[in-house]
Amino acid sequence: MTEIQLLNPSTGVAIGTVVGLDLQATDQAIDRASAAFPSWAAVAPGDRARLLRRFADLVDANLEELAQLEVTNSGHTISNARWEAGNVRDLLEFSAGGIERLYGHQIPVPGGIDLTFREPLGVVGIIVPWNFPMPIAAWGFAPALAAGNTVVLKPAEVTPLTAIRLGALALEAGIPEGVFQVLPGQGSIVGARFVSNEKVAKICFTGSTPVGTSIMAGCAPQVKRVTLELGGKSANIVFADSDLERAAATAPYGVFDNAGQDCCARSRILVEERAYERFMELLEPAVNGVVVGDPSLDSTEMGPLITEAHKAKVSSYLDSEAEVAFQGSCPDGPGFWFPPTVLTSTDPRSKVVTEEIFGPVVVVQRFNGEAEALRMANDTPFGLSGSIWTNDLGRAVRVARGVEAGNLSVNSHSSVRYWTPFGGMKQSGIGRELGPDALANFTEVKNVFIATS
Ligand code: NAP
Ligand code: MG
Repeated sequence: MTEIQLLNPSTGVAIGTVVGLDLQATDQAIDRASAAFPSWAAVAPGDRARLLRRFADLVDANLEELAQLEVTNSGHTISNARWEAGNVRDLLEFSAGGIERLYGHQIPVPGGIDLTFREPLGVVGIIVPWNFPMPIAAWGFAPALAAGNTVVLKPAEVTPLTAIRLGALALEAGIPEGVFQVLPGQGSIVGARFVSNEKVAKICFTGSTPVGTSIMAGCAPQVKRVTLELGGKSANIVFADSDLERAAATAPYGVFDNAGQDCCARSRILVEERAYERFMELLEPAVNGVVVGDPSLDSTEMGPLITEAHKAKVSSYLDSEAEVAFQGSCPDGPGFWFPPTVLTSTDPRSKVVTEEIFGPVVVVQRFNGEAEALRMANDTPFGLSGSIWTNDLGRAVRVARGVEAGNLSVNSHSSVRYWTPFGGMKQSGIGRELGPDALANFTEVKNVFIATS
Protein backbone atom coordinates (compact mmCIF):
# COMPACT_ATOMS: atom_id res chain seq x y z
CA MET A 1 0.00 0.00 0.00
CA THR A 2 1.22 3.52 -0.73
CA GLU A 3 0.05 6.82 0.66
CA ILE A 4 -1.04 9.30 -2.01
CA GLN A 5 -0.90 13.00 -1.10
CA LEU A 6 -3.67 15.11 -2.67
CA LEU A 7 -3.39 18.84 -3.44
CA ASN A 8 -5.93 21.53 -4.27
CA PRO A 9 -4.82 22.68 -7.76
CA SER A 10 -6.08 26.23 -7.27
CA THR A 11 -4.04 26.80 -4.10
CA GLY A 12 -1.38 24.10 -4.10
CA VAL A 13 -2.44 23.29 -0.52
CA ALA A 14 -2.55 19.67 0.72
CA ILE A 15 -6.13 18.44 1.18
CA GLY A 16 -5.52 14.92 2.47
CA THR A 17 -4.23 11.52 1.59
CA VAL A 18 -5.65 8.27 0.28
CA VAL A 19 -4.16 4.81 0.46
CA GLY A 20 -3.20 3.35 -2.89
CA LEU A 21 -3.77 -0.39 -3.28
CA ASP A 22 -0.95 -2.86 -3.88
CA LEU A 23 -1.08 -5.88 -6.19
CA GLN A 24 -2.41 -8.23 -3.54
CA ALA A 25 -5.26 -5.90 -2.55
CA THR A 26 -6.07 -5.34 -6.24
CA ASP A 27 -6.27 -9.09 -6.86
CA GLN A 28 -8.47 -9.53 -3.80
CA ALA A 29 -10.87 -6.87 -5.08
CA ILE A 30 -10.97 -8.51 -8.52
CA ASP A 31 -11.73 -11.85 -6.80
CA ARG A 32 -14.64 -10.21 -4.96
CA ALA A 33 -15.92 -8.71 -8.23
CA SER A 34 -15.66 -12.08 -9.91
CA ALA A 35 -17.50 -13.80 -7.07
CA ALA A 36 -20.26 -11.17 -7.13
CA PHE A 37 -20.81 -11.45 -10.90
CA PRO A 38 -23.16 -14.47 -11.21
CA SER A 39 -25.68 -13.18 -8.68
CA TRP A 40 -25.57 -9.60 -10.05
CA ALA A 41 -26.11 -10.88 -13.60
CA ALA A 42 -29.06 -12.92 -12.30
CA VAL A 43 -30.85 -9.98 -10.66
CA ALA A 44 -34.14 -9.52 -12.53
CA PRO A 45 -33.84 -6.63 -15.02
CA GLY A 46 -36.52 -4.54 -13.32
CA ASP A 47 -34.81 -4.93 -9.94
CA ARG A 48 -31.38 -4.05 -11.34
CA ALA A 49 -32.96 -0.98 -12.93
CA ARG A 50 -34.52 0.00 -9.60
CA LEU A 51 -31.13 -0.28 -7.83
CA LEU A 52 -29.44 1.94 -10.43
CA ARG A 53 -32.26 4.50 -10.14
CA ARG A 54 -31.82 4.52 -6.38
CA PHE A 55 -28.08 5.10 -6.95
CA ALA A 56 -28.99 7.96 -9.33
CA ASP A 57 -31.29 9.47 -6.69
CA LEU A 58 -28.47 9.40 -4.12
CA VAL A 59 -26.08 11.06 -6.58
CA ASP A 60 -28.71 13.75 -7.10
CA ALA A 61 -29.24 14.18 -3.35
CA ASN A 62 -25.46 14.56 -2.88
CA LEU A 63 -24.83 16.54 -6.05
CA GLU A 64 -23.55 19.65 -4.30
CA GLU A 65 -21.16 17.68 -2.09
CA LEU A 66 -19.78 15.78 -5.11
CA ALA A 67 -19.37 19.04 -7.04
CA GLN A 68 -17.55 20.72 -4.14
CA LEU A 69 -15.22 17.71 -3.83
CA GLU A 70 -14.32 18.08 -7.52
CA VAL A 71 -13.64 21.80 -7.12
CA THR A 72 -11.26 21.05 -4.25
CA ASN A 73 -9.56 17.96 -5.67
CA SER A 74 -9.47 18.84 -9.40
CA GLY A 75 -9.81 22.63 -9.61
CA HIS A 76 -12.92 22.37 -11.78
CA THR A 77 -15.19 25.39 -11.85
CA ILE A 78 -18.21 24.86 -9.63
CA SER A 79 -20.60 25.22 -12.57
CA ASN A 80 -18.75 22.53 -14.53
CA ALA A 81 -18.53 20.30 -11.45
CA ARG A 82 -22.28 20.52 -10.89
CA TRP A 83 -22.85 19.54 -14.52
CA GLU A 84 -20.42 16.64 -14.09
CA ALA A 85 -22.19 15.25 -11.00
CA GLY A 86 -25.50 15.69 -12.84
CA ASN A 87 -24.03 13.77 -15.76
CA VAL A 88 -23.35 10.80 -13.43
CA ARG A 89 -26.99 10.87 -12.27
CA ASP A 90 -28.23 11.12 -15.87
CA LEU A 91 -26.00 8.25 -17.03
CA LEU A 92 -27.35 6.04 -14.25
CA GLU A 93 -30.95 6.92 -15.18
CA PHE A 94 -30.28 6.43 -18.90
CA SER A 95 -28.56 3.08 -18.29
CA ALA A 96 -31.30 1.95 -15.91
CA GLY A 97 -33.77 2.64 -18.72
CA GLY A 98 -31.86 0.29 -21.02
CA ILE A 99 -31.83 -2.74 -18.73
CA GLU A 100 -35.41 -3.74 -19.47
CA ARG A 101 -34.87 -3.11 -23.19
CA LEU A 102 -31.69 -5.14 -23.73
CA TYR A 103 -33.41 -7.04 -26.53
CA GLY A 104 -32.05 -9.76 -28.75
CA HIS A 105 -33.29 -10.92 -32.15
CA GLN A 106 -35.49 -13.75 -33.25
CA ILE A 107 -34.14 -14.69 -36.67
CA PRO A 108 -36.11 -16.73 -39.24
CA VAL A 109 -34.14 -19.90 -40.04
CA PRO A 110 -35.18 -23.30 -41.44
CA GLY A 111 -35.69 -26.24 -39.07
CA GLY A 112 -36.16 -24.35 -35.84
CA ILE A 113 -36.02 -20.97 -34.15
CA ASP A 114 -32.98 -18.79 -33.65
CA LEU A 115 -32.51 -16.37 -30.78
CA THR A 116 -29.77 -13.96 -29.81
CA PHE A 117 -28.96 -12.96 -26.25
CA ARG A 118 -26.85 -10.10 -24.95
CA GLU A 119 -24.72 -11.73 -22.26
CA PRO A 120 -22.75 -9.63 -19.76
CA LEU A 121 -18.96 -10.01 -19.92
CA GLY A 122 -18.04 -10.53 -16.27
CA VAL A 123 -15.69 -8.17 -14.43
CA VAL A 124 -15.07 -4.86 -16.23
CA GLY A 125 -11.99 -2.78 -15.33
CA ILE A 126 -12.37 0.96 -15.80
CA ILE A 127 -9.27 3.17 -15.77
CA VAL A 128 -10.09 6.86 -15.41
CA PRO A 129 -7.91 9.94 -16.04
CA TRP A 130 -7.80 13.09 -13.93
CA ASN A 131 -9.41 15.50 -16.39
CA PHE A 132 -13.08 14.47 -15.96
CA PRO A 133 -13.10 12.14 -12.94
CA MET A 134 -16.88 11.84 -12.58
CA PRO A 135 -18.25 11.71 -16.14
CA ILE A 136 -15.57 9.37 -17.52
CA ALA A 137 -16.05 7.01 -14.58
CA ALA A 138 -19.83 6.97 -15.09
CA TRP A 139 -19.66 6.47 -18.87
CA GLY A 140 -18.03 3.16 -18.00
CA PHE A 141 -19.60 2.00 -14.75
CA ALA A 142 -23.25 2.94 -15.38
CA PRO A 143 -23.79 0.95 -18.61
CA ALA A 144 -21.42 -1.82 -17.45
CA LEU A 145 -23.41 -2.37 -14.24
CA ALA A 146 -26.70 -2.02 -16.10
CA ALA A 147 -25.74 -4.78 -18.54
CA GLY A 148 -25.08 -7.13 -15.60
CA ASN A 149 -21.30 -6.83 -15.20
CA THR A 150 -19.42 -6.15 -12.00
CA VAL A 151 -16.94 -3.27 -12.02
CA VAL A 152 -13.55 -2.44 -10.60
CA LEU A 153 -12.66 1.19 -11.17
CA LYS A 154 -9.29 2.90 -10.80
CA PRO A 155 -9.50 6.67 -10.53
CA ALA A 156 -6.47 8.76 -11.48
CA GLU A 157 -3.98 8.92 -8.63
CA VAL A 158 -4.37 12.67 -8.19
CA THR A 159 -8.20 12.85 -8.39
CA PRO A 160 -9.75 9.89 -6.53
CA LEU A 161 -12.17 11.64 -4.15
CA THR A 162 -15.39 11.82 -6.17
CA ALA A 163 -15.01 8.21 -7.37
CA ILE A 164 -14.52 7.02 -3.79
CA ARG A 165 -17.68 8.89 -2.76
CA LEU A 166 -19.63 7.40 -5.69
CA GLY A 167 -18.53 3.91 -4.60
CA ALA A 168 -19.95 4.58 -1.13
CA LEU A 169 -23.22 5.92 -2.58
CA ALA A 170 -23.62 2.74 -4.67
CA LEU A 171 -23.45 0.64 -1.48
CA GLU A 172 -25.88 2.98 0.26
CA ALA A 173 -28.27 2.51 -2.67
CA GLY A 174 -28.29 -1.22 -2.00
CA ILE A 175 -26.01 -2.36 -4.80
CA PRO A 176 -24.44 -5.51 -3.30
CA GLU A 177 -20.87 -5.63 -1.98
CA GLY A 178 -18.34 -6.51 -4.66
CA VAL A 179 -20.49 -5.30 -7.57
CA PHE A 180 -18.93 -1.83 -7.86
CA GLN A 181 -15.55 -1.26 -6.21
CA VAL A 182 -13.40 1.86 -6.46
CA LEU A 183 -9.69 1.04 -6.12
CA PRO A 184 -7.41 4.05 -5.73
CA GLY A 185 -3.77 3.53 -6.57
CA GLN A 186 -1.05 3.86 -9.14
CA GLY A 187 -1.65 3.17 -12.81
CA SER A 188 1.42 0.98 -13.03
CA ILE A 189 0.15 -1.18 -10.15
CA VAL A 190 -3.67 -1.19 -9.97
CA GLY A 191 -4.40 -0.27 -13.62
CA ALA A 192 -1.77 -2.62 -15.01
CA ARG A 193 -3.20 -5.44 -12.86
CA PHE A 194 -6.64 -5.01 -14.46
CA VAL A 195 -4.88 -5.75 -17.74
CA SER A 196 -2.87 -8.78 -16.58
CA ASN A 197 -5.46 -10.39 -14.27
CA GLU A 198 -7.37 -12.99 -16.31
CA LYS A 199 -10.55 -12.53 -14.28
CA VAL A 200 -11.05 -9.06 -15.81
CA ALA A 201 -12.98 -9.48 -19.08
CA LYS A 202 -12.81 -5.96 -20.49
CA ILE A 203 -10.83 -2.77 -19.98
CA CYS A 204 -12.23 0.72 -20.57
CA PHE A 205 -9.32 3.11 -20.61
CA THR A 206 -9.31 6.88 -21.04
CA GLY A 207 -6.02 8.75 -20.98
CA SER A 208 -2.82 9.22 -22.91
CA THR A 209 -1.97 7.51 -26.18
CA PRO A 210 1.26 5.85 -24.93
CA VAL A 211 -0.47 4.21 -21.94
CA GLY A 212 -3.47 3.33 -24.14
CA THR A 213 -1.32 1.51 -26.69
CA SER A 214 0.49 -0.39 -23.92
CA ILE A 215 -2.89 -1.45 -22.50
CA MET A 216 -4.09 -2.63 -25.91
CA ALA A 217 -0.90 -4.67 -26.31
CA GLY A 218 -1.29 -6.04 -22.77
CA CYS A 219 -4.87 -7.14 -23.53
CA ALA A 220 -3.86 -8.98 -26.73
CA PRO A 221 -2.51 -12.24 -25.20
CA GLN A 222 -5.86 -12.80 -23.44
CA VAL A 223 -7.93 -11.37 -26.31
CA LYS A 224 -9.30 -9.13 -23.59
CA ARG A 225 -11.95 -6.67 -24.79
CA VAL A 226 -10.75 -3.08 -24.74
CA THR A 227 -12.19 0.36 -25.32
CA LEU A 228 -9.72 3.23 -25.59
CA GLU A 229 -10.51 6.93 -25.44
CA LEU A 230 -7.23 8.71 -26.10
CA GLY A 231 -6.10 12.17 -26.99
CA GLY A 232 -7.07 14.65 -29.65
CA LYS A 233 -5.91 17.66 -31.65
CA SER A 234 -9.28 18.68 -32.92
CA ALA A 235 -9.91 21.37 -35.50
CA ASN A 236 -12.41 24.19 -35.27
CA ILE A 237 -12.91 25.09 -38.95
CA VAL A 238 -14.24 28.60 -39.53
CA PHE A 239 -15.46 29.42 -43.03
CA ALA A 240 -15.80 33.03 -44.18
CA ASP A 241 -19.53 32.49 -44.83
CA SER A 242 -20.23 31.72 -41.15
CA ASP A 243 -21.56 33.95 -38.40
CA LEU A 244 -18.05 35.18 -37.54
CA GLU A 245 -19.20 37.02 -34.40
CA ARG A 246 -20.60 33.83 -32.93
CA ALA A 247 -17.72 31.70 -34.16
CA ALA A 248 -15.20 34.02 -32.48
CA ALA A 249 -17.23 34.54 -29.30
CA THR A 250 -17.56 30.78 -28.72
CA ALA A 251 -14.12 29.61 -29.93
CA PRO A 252 -12.43 30.22 -26.51
CA TYR A 253 -15.00 28.00 -24.78
CA GLY A 254 -14.43 25.28 -27.37
CA VAL A 255 -10.82 24.96 -26.21
CA PHE A 256 -10.33 26.61 -22.81
CA ASP A 257 -13.12 24.82 -20.96
CA ASN A 258 -11.62 22.79 -18.08
CA ALA A 259 -8.44 24.81 -18.71
CA GLY A 260 -8.02 22.97 -22.02
CA GLN A 261 -7.67 19.65 -20.22
CA ASP A 262 -10.26 18.09 -22.46
CA CYS A 263 -9.66 15.41 -25.07
CA CYS A 264 -12.29 17.14 -27.26
CA ALA A 265 -10.67 20.60 -26.99
CA ARG A 266 -10.73 22.39 -30.34
CA SER A 267 -7.05 23.21 -29.99
CA ARG A 268 -6.51 24.14 -33.66
CA ILE A 269 -8.58 26.94 -35.16
CA LEU A 270 -8.49 26.89 -38.97
CA VAL A 271 -9.77 30.16 -40.43
CA GLU A 272 -10.54 30.84 -44.09
CA GLU A 273 -7.98 33.33 -45.40
CA ARG A 274 -10.42 36.09 -46.37
CA ALA A 275 -12.02 36.09 -42.90
CA TYR A 276 -8.78 35.74 -40.94
CA GLU A 277 -8.11 39.38 -39.98
CA ARG A 278 -11.70 40.00 -38.91
CA PHE A 279 -11.85 36.73 -36.97
CA MET A 280 -8.67 37.57 -35.05
CA GLU A 281 -10.03 41.05 -34.22
CA LEU A 282 -13.13 39.41 -32.77
CA LEU A 283 -11.24 36.58 -31.03
CA GLU A 284 -8.98 38.81 -28.92
CA PRO A 285 -11.73 40.40 -26.77
CA ALA A 286 -13.44 37.00 -26.51
CA VAL A 287 -10.25 35.48 -25.07
CA ASN A 288 -9.74 38.42 -22.73
CA GLY A 289 -13.33 37.96 -21.58
CA VAL A 290 -12.77 34.42 -20.28
CA VAL A 291 -13.12 34.69 -16.49
CA VAL A 292 -10.16 32.82 -14.96
CA GLY A 293 -9.89 32.50 -11.20
CA ASP A 294 -11.26 30.96 -8.02
CA PRO A 295 -13.11 27.87 -9.28
CA SER A 296 -15.54 27.91 -6.36
CA LEU A 297 -17.22 31.09 -7.66
CA ASP A 298 -20.30 30.75 -9.86
CA SER A 299 -18.96 33.42 -12.22
CA THR A 300 -15.64 31.67 -12.93
CA GLU A 301 -15.24 30.13 -16.38
CA MET A 302 -11.76 28.61 -16.14
CA GLY A 303 -9.72 27.25 -13.25
CA PRO A 304 -6.14 26.04 -12.82
CA LEU A 305 -4.22 23.18 -14.38
CA ILE A 306 -4.18 19.90 -12.49
CA THR A 307 -0.59 19.77 -11.16
CA GLU A 308 2.68 21.71 -11.11
CA ALA A 309 4.18 19.06 -13.40
CA HIS A 310 1.38 19.47 -15.92
CA LYS A 311 1.79 23.24 -15.80
CA ALA A 312 5.48 22.78 -16.62
CA LYS A 313 4.54 20.54 -19.57
CA VAL A 314 2.03 23.06 -20.93
CA SER A 315 4.49 25.95 -20.43
CA SER A 316 7.18 24.10 -22.39
CA TYR A 317 5.16 24.62 -25.60
CA LEU A 318 5.64 28.37 -25.44
CA ASP A 319 9.21 28.20 -26.68
CA SER A 320 10.66 30.30 -29.47
CA GLU A 321 8.93 28.45 -32.32
CA ALA A 322 5.49 29.48 -31.08
CA GLU A 323 4.23 32.95 -31.96
CA VAL A 324 1.97 34.31 -29.21
CA ALA A 325 -0.85 36.34 -30.81
CA PHE A 326 -2.45 37.23 -27.48
CA GLN A 327 -2.94 35.92 -23.99
CA GLY A 328 -5.68 36.34 -21.39
CA SER A 329 -4.94 36.63 -17.72
CA CYS A 330 -4.91 34.34 -14.69
CA PRO A 331 -4.16 34.63 -10.98
CA ASP A 332 -0.52 34.60 -9.97
CA GLY A 333 0.60 33.25 -6.64
CA PRO A 334 -0.04 29.73 -5.44
CA GLY A 335 -1.85 27.14 -7.53
CA PHE A 336 -1.17 25.82 -11.00
CA TRP A 337 -2.41 28.70 -13.13
CA PHE A 338 -1.91 29.25 -16.84
CA PRO A 339 -3.59 31.98 -18.91
CA PRO A 340 -5.71 31.35 -22.03
CA THR A 341 -3.16 31.59 -24.83
CA VAL A 342 -3.59 32.05 -28.58
CA LEU A 343 -0.70 31.13 -30.87
CA THR A 344 -0.36 31.42 -34.63
CA SER A 345 1.68 29.16 -36.84
CA THR A 346 2.43 28.71 -40.50
CA ASP A 347 4.56 25.60 -39.94
CA PRO A 348 2.41 22.47 -40.21
CA ARG A 349 5.09 20.38 -38.47
CA SER A 350 5.45 22.68 -35.46
CA LYS A 351 4.87 20.90 -32.13
CA VAL A 352 2.11 23.34 -31.24
CA VAL A 353 0.27 22.27 -34.39
CA THR A 354 0.83 18.52 -34.08
CA GLU A 355 0.92 17.66 -30.35
CA GLU A 356 -1.85 17.54 -27.78
CA ILE A 357 -0.91 20.27 -25.28
CA PHE A 358 -3.85 19.57 -22.93
CA GLY A 359 -3.84 23.09 -21.55
CA PRO A 360 -5.44 26.45 -22.41
CA VAL A 361 -3.40 26.92 -25.59
CA VAL A 362 -4.86 27.17 -29.08
CA VAL A 363 -3.08 27.59 -32.40
CA VAL A 364 -4.70 29.52 -35.26
CA GLN A 365 -3.89 28.70 -38.89
CA ARG A 366 -5.20 29.97 -42.25
CA PHE A 367 -6.67 27.98 -45.13
CA ASN A 368 -7.99 28.61 -48.62
CA GLY A 369 -11.12 26.69 -49.61
CA GLU A 370 -12.83 23.53 -48.48
CA ALA A 371 -10.28 21.06 -49.82
CA GLU A 372 -7.41 22.69 -47.95
CA ALA A 373 -9.49 22.94 -44.76
CA LEU A 374 -10.11 19.19 -44.87
CA ARG A 375 -6.50 18.37 -45.69
CA MET A 376 -5.29 20.44 -42.70
CA ALA A 377 -7.98 19.15 -40.34
CA ASN A 378 -7.05 15.55 -41.20
CA ASP A 379 -3.28 16.09 -41.08
CA THR A 380 -3.01 14.46 -37.63
CA PRO A 381 -2.94 10.93 -36.26
CA PHE A 382 -5.79 11.93 -33.93
CA GLY A 383 -9.49 11.93 -34.81
CA LEU A 384 -11.69 12.68 -31.84
CA SER A 385 -13.86 15.73 -32.41
CA GLY A 386 -14.13 19.02 -34.26
CA SER A 387 -16.36 21.94 -35.18
CA ILE A 388 -17.44 23.42 -38.50
CA TRP A 389 -18.69 27.00 -38.75
CA THR A 390 -20.55 27.82 -41.95
CA ASN A 391 -24.01 28.97 -43.02
CA ASP A 392 -23.92 26.80 -46.14
CA LEU A 393 -25.82 23.62 -45.28
CA GLY A 394 -24.33 21.57 -48.10
CA ARG A 395 -20.81 22.56 -47.09
CA ALA A 396 -21.53 21.77 -43.44
CA VAL A 397 -22.55 18.23 -44.34
CA ARG A 398 -19.71 17.73 -46.86
CA VAL A 399 -17.06 18.89 -44.41
CA ALA A 400 -18.57 16.99 -41.47
CA ARG A 401 -18.45 13.81 -43.58
CA GLY A 402 -14.89 14.62 -44.69
CA VAL A 403 -13.30 15.22 -41.30
CA GLU A 404 -11.82 11.99 -39.94
CA ALA A 405 -13.13 12.30 -36.38
CA GLY A 406 -15.75 10.55 -34.29
CA ASN A 407 -17.69 13.55 -32.94
CA LEU A 408 -18.38 16.67 -34.97
CA SER A 409 -20.52 19.69 -34.36
CA VAL A 410 -21.76 22.31 -36.82
CA ASN A 411 -22.10 25.88 -35.53
CA SER A 412 -21.53 24.53 -32.02
CA HIS A 413 -18.68 23.13 -29.94
CA SER A 414 -20.44 20.41 -28.04
CA SER A 415 -19.33 16.79 -28.46
CA VAL A 416 -20.79 15.04 -25.49
CA ARG A 417 -24.41 14.06 -24.98
CA TYR A 418 -25.16 10.83 -23.19
CA TRP A 419 -27.84 9.97 -25.78
CA THR A 420 -25.30 9.90 -28.64
CA PRO A 421 -22.22 7.73 -29.35
CA PHE A 422 -18.82 9.09 -28.37
CA GLY A 423 -15.37 7.90 -29.39
CA GLY A 424 -12.38 8.43 -31.61
CA MET A 425 -11.21 7.55 -35.10
CA LYS A 426 -7.54 6.82 -35.92
CA GLN A 427 -5.25 7.06 -32.87
CA SER A 428 -7.88 8.81 -30.74
CA GLY A 429 -9.22 5.45 -29.70
CA ILE A 430 -11.15 2.33 -30.43
CA GLY A 431 -14.75 1.54 -29.59
CA ARG A 432 -17.58 3.86 -28.60
CA GLU A 433 -19.20 4.87 -25.33
CA LEU A 434 -22.60 6.40 -24.53
CA GLY A 435 -25.46 6.52 -27.01
CA PRO A 436 -28.04 3.92 -27.99
CA ASP A 437 -25.48 1.07 -27.84
CA ALA A 438 -24.00 2.00 -24.43
CA LEU A 439 -25.17 -1.21 -22.73
CA ALA A 440 -24.55 -3.41 -25.76
CA ASN A 441 -20.85 -2.43 -25.60
CA PHE A 442 -20.67 -4.30 -22.28
CA THR A 443 -22.16 -7.53 -23.62
CA GLU A 444 -21.34 -10.34 -26.03
CA VAL A 445 -23.92 -11.53 -28.54
CA LYS A 446 -24.81 -15.18 -28.06
CA ASN A 447 -26.69 -17.03 -30.76
CA VAL A 448 -28.91 -20.00 -29.86
CA PHE A 449 -30.61 -22.29 -32.39
CA ILE A 450 -33.42 -24.53 -31.18
CA ALA A 451 -34.47 -27.36 -33.51
CA THR A 452 -38.23 -27.74 -33.77
CA SER A 453 -38.24 -30.94 -35.76
P1 NAP B 1 -2.21 8.54 -18.27
O1 NAP B 1 -0.91 8.22 -17.65
O2 NAP B 1 -2.57 7.89 -19.55
O3 NAP B 1 -3.33 8.23 -17.14
C1 NAP B 1 -4.65 7.81 -17.36
C2 NAP B 1 -5.01 6.72 -16.36
O4 NAP B 1 -4.25 5.54 -16.65
C3 NAP B 1 -4.70 7.07 -14.91
O5 NAP B 1 -5.66 6.49 -14.08
C4 NAP B 1 -3.35 6.41 -14.73
O6 NAP B 1 -3.00 6.15 -13.41
C5 NAP B 1 -3.54 5.13 -15.50
N1 NAP B 1 -2.29 4.47 -15.88
C6 NAP B 1 -1.06 5.01 -16.02
N2 NAP B 1 -0.17 4.06 -16.38
C7 NAP B 1 -0.85 2.90 -16.49
C8 NAP B 1 -0.50 1.57 -16.84
N3 NAP B 1 0.75 1.25 -17.19
N4 NAP B 1 -1.44 0.63 -16.86
C9 NAP B 1 -2.72 0.94 -16.55
N5 NAP B 1 -3.12 2.17 -16.19
C10 NAP B 1 -2.21 3.15 -16.18
O7 NAP B 1 -2.37 10.08 -18.47
P2 NAP B 1 -1.64 11.23 -17.61
O8 NAP B 1 -0.19 10.87 -17.41
O9 NAP B 1 -2.45 11.47 -16.43
O10 NAP B 1 -1.70 12.45 -18.62
C11 NAP B 1 -0.72 12.58 -19.62
C12 NAP B 1 -1.29 13.14 -20.90
O11 NAP B 1 -2.33 12.28 -21.38
C13 NAP B 1 -1.98 14.48 -20.77
O12 NAP B 1 -1.09 15.52 -20.77
C14 NAP B 1 -2.90 14.45 -21.96
O13 NAP B 1 -2.23 14.83 -23.13
C15 NAP B 1 -3.30 13.01 -22.06
N6 NAP B 1 -4.61 12.75 -21.41
C16 NAP B 1 -5.69 12.53 -22.19
C17 NAP B 1 -6.91 12.31 -21.60
C18 NAP B 1 -8.13 12.06 -22.40
O14 NAP B 1 -9.23 12.39 -21.95
N7 NAP B 1 -8.03 11.47 -23.57
C19 NAP B 1 -7.05 12.31 -20.23
C20 NAP B 1 -5.92 12.52 -19.43
C21 NAP B 1 -4.71 12.72 -20.05
P3 NAP B 1 -2.14 7.27 -12.60
O15 NAP B 1 -3.12 8.24 -12.14
O16 NAP B 1 -1.50 6.52 -11.49
O17 NAP B 1 -1.15 7.82 -13.56
MG1 MG C 1 0.78 9.02 -16.74
